[in-house]
Amino acid sequence: MPKPKLALILGSGFSKDAGLPTTADIPEKFLMTPTNTVLTSEIEDEISKILRKFWERVFGFKNGGPRPSLEDHFTLLDLAANSGHHLGPYYSPKKLRAIRRMSIHRVFSLVTFGKKKRPHIRKMLYSLNKNFDLSIVTLNWDIIVERHLENYADSKKLPFYYPIEAIALTGTFANQPWPHDGVPLMKMHGSTNWVYCDSCRRIYAGRIASTALNRKTFLEPDDFRLFDVEARLANQLEELTDDRDCPHCGNVLAGRVATFSYRKAFSIAQFHTIWERAHFALCAADNWLLIGYSMPEADYEFKHLLKSAQLGRNKKNWIARVVLKDDLSAENRYKSFLGLTGKDVYQGGLSKWIHSSLDEYIGER
Ligand SMILES: [Zn+2]
Repeated sequence: MPKPKLALILGSGFSKDAGLPTTADIPEKFLMTPTNTVLTSEIEDEISKILRKFWERVFGFKNGGPRPSLEDHFTLLDLAANSGHHLGPYYSPKKLRAIRRMSIHRVFSLVTFGKKKRPHIRKMLYSLNKNFDLSIVTLNWDIIVERHLENYADSKKLPFYYPIEAIALTGTFANQPWPHDGVPLMKMHGSTNWVYCDSCRRIYAGRIASTALNRKTFLEPDDFRLFDVEARLANQLEELTDDRDCPHCGNVLAGRVATFSYRKAFSIAQFHTIWERAHFALCAADNWLLIGYSMPEADYEFKHLLKSAQLGRNKKNWIARVVLKDDLSAENRYKSFLGLTGKDVYQGGLSKWIHSSLDEYIGER
């Protein structure tokens, strides 16, 4: 008998369980220079200063005062820069795009340096894969799920693939497409291990390293020259960013992601493919398991995708379960938007759910 299909849908609460900050936690850390960095701390300090100035001028931010949400931060940047508008007299579209790149670099730094593997997450992936025909849809940029799939039980790998033509950047398969083998992993907003070539339009994927961050693909020396930064720092960055040539066409590789904003920039074709594959997987699955995803209002495109897939299913026996941690407003959104009930939502967090309810969940299928 074929295994029932399961779509596992992951939000930032899943990564929090592995030690990373959630979307809501990031503003607290956003202006702090990371201690573990691929750049010099002088350059990271400069990024912190530029971001802080932006918050002060745009949001009236003061030390110790409330911080803007990431959604507001990126929405203001995207809406002004993409329509060619200034944000006040100082922030030209060019400066806004520079700040956007620095902001993504900063967020990538915050969601990268938590490499610990959690045995309970490995256990969950192992059990789900054993009992279901598994697809994974994630809203996260980080590579927590990749790290756990690469080493999910006694150093065994559970093969996975991105359902796009992702080209290997280094290693045995360098410059060849990753084989489509194993669990499909749909990264709806992009990934810290992807880099993009604007010329030949390829996505290169490093397997389990934060390639975009390591290759500084979101930082341009010229961006620093727009702000009152010492020339030697921009020159220093120039020297640090020397491994960014596209292996295929020689163009400079860049980072491309969809940000948290209300207006996500799905400007590259691969994102359309990923969203289409996710819709297909959600429509085909008998079971949805949503972990650490609070279904925020800013994700209206993804909410629309969920609703469309829910209504586009051809079978009635659909089971959706949600695992959250003390998030009643998210629970209410699930009830009012997907029609779930209190018994479909677990509020005790992922580790407790795996410990107390995973076996029962598998038994229900
Ligand atoms: Zn290229």
